[in-house]
Amino acid sequence: GNSVLSSYGTTIFEVMSRLAETHKAVNLGQGFPDGNGPADLVAEATRYLDTGWNQYPSMMGLPTLRQAVAEHARRFYGLDVDWASEVMVTSGATEALAACLFGLLEPGDEVVLFQPLYDSYVPIIRRAGAVPRFVSLRAPDWSFDPDELRAAFGPRTKLVLINNPLNPAAKVWGWEELSTLAELVQEHDCLAVCDEVYEHLVFDGRPHIPLMALPGMRDRTLRIGSAGKTFSLTGWKVGYVTGAPRLLQPVAKAHQFLTFTTPPNLQHAVAFGLRKDDAYFHGLAADMQAKRDRLTAGLRAAGLTVLPAQGTYFVTADIGHTGLGEGDTEFCKRLTAEAGVTAIPVSAFFDQDPPGNLIRFCFCKKDETLDEACRRLEGWF
Ligand code: PMP
Ligand code: GLN
Repeated sequence: GNSVLSSYGTTIFEVMSRLAETHKAVNLGQGFPDGNGPADLVAEATRYLDTGWNQYPSMMGLPTLRQAVAEHARRFYGLDVDWASEVMVTSGATEALAACLFGLLEPGDEVVLFQPLYDSYVPIIRRAGAVPRFVSLRAPDWSFDPDELRAAFGPRTKLVLINNPLNPAAKVWGWEELSTLAELVQEHDCLAVCDEVYEHLVFDGRPHIPLMALPGMRDRTLRIGSAGKTFSLTGWKVGYVTGAPRLLQPVAKAHQFLTFTTPPNLQHAVAFGLRKDDAYFHGLAADMQAKRDRLTAGLRAAGLTVLPAQGTYFVTADIGHTGLGEGDTEFCKRLTAEAGVTAIPVSAFFDQDPPGNLIRFCFCKKDETLDEACRRLEGWF
């Protein structure tokens, strides 16, 4: 009937952030910094707002930002990108993902995905009439079985969607794993969409390797980035997609009916940000690595088993031993209400066979916020 107007639930990030507000909990759930982002980017955005950059910019994005995205890809990954035909600006990575999926998928197409996965992927794939095929990554190292991956491909496979670095597992994909994937994509003559919003949040000297940089993948891959994570300004919702014209053109057709464009003052400020010197990007990773270490130590001192984190804003902890066997979602709600600390249940990142014993904490917060959370958790488990 028409009493249920949508099959979509409410995203766990919204649910847990509102619950955190209700209980005045320290919110280490949803991934956003509790600071204001770099002052120089904010000043640039303000300056452009004040000087008349307030009308629709062009559909593909301002040339200065598209040029900055191409320069950034060359500087960090040696990728040769033509800004005019191969870069499009979007309203966040969320819109970039939706535009890629709606632009490329036809009903009946299959998409290969790895679990755990970001919660926007599967609802969009299904609304496009396409069919997800899941491959499991297994904790603690989140590796996959190459035979299981091979079996997920078939004659209807249109694309593979991966997230690297991976939220919430904090895994950074290595060259060998990416090669296995790249070979299958080529063998099956399909495409790849690579969500790289955490590209600059990689720790312990590990490199970030774009799937697009692997042999044979340059013109089969769409690479997605976001200013939200790279500049600690998650509310700005400025993203970018890079890919060969043959792939980007259908994606732009979807973008024109999703948002069409993105605020011009923010585009200017992000262009300025992407042109910052290497020290900014290295400093960001070093700061976040120190926060990862601070939160990991605090959670361990509070009695939790914390899994290793190679990148992203997140660490995951195993609650299996706490004997509070009500499942991860109930556990996170209770943790918010009773301990005053909010985390995200990792089961929210699974469509099938959720683990139930893992919760995710976000560390892109002020040191005093992390310390307060750990203080509240002490003695709780
Ligand atoms: N992909 C992943 C893996 C994410 O964690 C997020 C959330 N930050 C997004 C995409 C969405 O990014 P944006 O805020 O730029 O839309
Ligand atoms: N990407 C953020 C996270 O994983 C949340 C973004 C959102 O609220 N949709 O926490």
